[in-house]
Amino acid sequence: MPEVKSALPPALQHPLLQTPHAMFCRLGGVSAGPFATLNLSCHVGDKQDLVQENRRRALAALGLRQLVALQQVHADRVLLLDHMPESGEFSGFDAVITNVPGLALLIQQADCQAVLLHAPGRRVVAAVHCGWRGSVANIIGKTVARMRSAFGVRPAELRAVVSPSLGPCCAEFITYKQELPAWMHAFAATGKPAHFDFWAMSARQLATAGVPAAQIGIMGICTCCNHGYFSFRRAKRENGGLCGRNGSMIGLAAR
Ligand SMILES: [Zn+2]
Repeated sequence: MPEVKSALPPALQHPLLQTPHAMFCRLGGVSAGPFATLNLSCHVGDKQDLVQENRRRALAALGLRQLVALQQVHADRVLLLDHMPESGEFSGFDAVITNVPGLALLIQQADCQAVLLHAPGRRVVAAVHCGWRGSVANIIGKTVARMRSAFGVRPAELRAVVSPSLGPCCAEFITYKQELPAWMHAFAATGKPAHFDFWAMSARQLATAGVPAAQIGIMGICTCCNHGYFSFRRAKRENGGLCGRNGSMIGLAAR
């Protein structure tokens, strides 16, 4: 009997990233209700066995060996993995860097950005969870700096892609004068009061960190407008904020 493989969940990729990676939408999983269907977070109230099946499918889509998930806290700590870890779950980090082939670095988001980074020459990858607090803390710049100090990655060789996430169409911050520092006010979206372009902010932070503009990709898909994605903002309007998390992943293939 030939082996029957279950269908892999649909995902977007970007041509800048010449390494296994995927930006998943909410389709292709087994979860139900507000988590339907490809919820990749263990911490939003979904059934654990369903999340594990969803994660198995996501890992299979990348063809890698072990998934690494962060219990993200909207801060700026960066996890460094230079050997195969015993466990795949780490709490208190919002970014992870590795040079270990076979690891699939997972970021879980529902409007926040996943920023996927690849240094082809050094064979190093990183995944960053970046919401507005991450933008304020410049977790992107800190991750690029750590890739350099730990693995000798030159920012000029980095390729970076910002996943589907909250777009300028929906990123309204009524209390931006209290919440967002002054430098961010320059990134106001045109024609919409109190809306901000966090995609452009991340592109700026990547460029400031030394990543060439031609090596920065923005997917440009708003998770709040597009019902194919989990969106915390949309869920807040509809049911008090209960929703799953989209996943974005990157890793290195075994040689
Ligand atoms: Zn939108």
